Amino acid sequence: MFDRASVVTPGGVNSPVRAFRAVGGTPRFMVSGTGPYLTDADGREYVDLVCSWGPMILGHSHPEVIAAVQEAVSRGTSFGTPGEGEVALAEEIVARIEPVEQVRLVSSGTEATMSAIRLARGFTGRAKVVKFAGCYHGHVDALLAAAGSGLATFGLPDTPGVTGATAGDTVVLPYNDLDAVRAAFAAHPGEIACVITEASPGNMGVVPPADGFNAGLKELCAANGALYISDEVMTGFRTSKAGWYGVDGVRPDLMTFGKVMGGGFPAAAFGGRGDVMAHLAPAGPVYQAGTLSGNPVATAAGLAQLRLLDDAAYAKIDAVSAELRSLVGDALTKEGVAHTVSAASNMFSVFFTDEPVRDYDDAKKQDVFRFTAFFHAMLEQGVYLPPSAFESWFVSTAHDERAVERIAAALPAAACAAAEATA
Ligand code: PLP
Repeated sequence: MFDRASVVTPGGVNSPVRAFRAVGGTPRFMVSGTGPYLTDADGREYVDLVCSWGPMILGHSHPEVIAAVQEAVSRGTSFGTPGEGEVALAEEIVARIEPVEQVRLVSSGTEATMSAIRLARGFTGRAKVVKFAGCYHGHVDALLAAAGSGLATFGLPDTPGVTGATAGDTVVLPYNDLDAVRAAFAAHPGEIACVITEASPGNMGVVPPADGFNAGLKELCAANGALYISDEVMTGFRTSKAGWYGVDGVRPDLMTFGKVMGGGFPAAAFGGRGDVMAHLAPAGPVYQAGTLSGNPVATAAGLAQLRLLDDAAYAKIDAVSAELRSLVGDALTKEGVAHTVSAASNMFSVFFTDEPVRDYDDAKKQDVFRFTAFFHAMLEQGVYLPPSAFESWFVSTAHDERAVERIAAALPAAACAAAEATA
């Protein structure tokens, strides 16, 4: 299948990190998913710790989500008109996340961050955008500077095709460094439209904000007439009922969402302060649109998933995450492998270093070759990890005792492989 794919699709994949280039080997083609398991085209079953890079927080093929999708599909798949499902999904988002007074639905996280930045520029009349090295906000031209995720392992500091003019208004700063933000505001007075940050980064591995970092960003933005944009595409509806906002309570001006809110379909959103959102067309002059925005099938899936995500669901995900973190940590310690299990609520990843990781430069200092050996040993034993050392691991409510036992059984050999790996 990969050979076939490589003929008709660049690199054989529709999103680079899926190609396994960071770890080597041939990507698995998955044909079905049930609960915490994926089955590949050769009939092998894996415990899935990627969960479609976050969306599948209830596991695969959750019966109530599937039923909602089937019901929606039976009424038609796209109308290009307003519909009740999109209103209900917007109401659910607004009800869960207090700083979001209004929300606009789009089809991908990339669209959400791109639109939020355009809106911030339109609202403030300023051009410059501050972002942090290692934070990934989708493949928006202006934000593809020192981004994490797929770019972290591609060795492309920037990508060809993004012009100097487009990236020229982007100021890239080290993460968790408020002094650098202060200095940027001082160097560009009256020019910075917004600071965009992952609410808690998961695209350089999991690197949570230091105490007071997000609050400091908010304060500096407010003091300098810039908007504070919290990108919750990954953390939203995952790290708590109200995402990372539910964890740190720092009130953004604008927020972006995706992944979990789409229930496995292309649905994403941006929203926030009513006075800012009022600048968006057709209410205001900042243009933004989408043929499939608010698609009835996607919104039905997202709404069904969000409605199932109650306190008990988050308690379960948090508990499974904690158990796995300790199992992984113990296995690596036993083999004497230097590591740091880094967590932000139930998101976590393993850095193969015992030095503290506070930013992208720290993350890059880990022994990536040990992750590669660890990854392949887990894969061989039927555990599907993100195929990169710079990605978050994701669990779901479907990760039950049996799934955890299978992971636990695979860990000793994987830890041993990591210990024996050479650069
Ligand atoms: N923002 C963050 C924090 C993300 O993690 C991602 C994707 O991983 C995006 C934006 C882009 O979302 P999408 O891949 O849906 O375009």
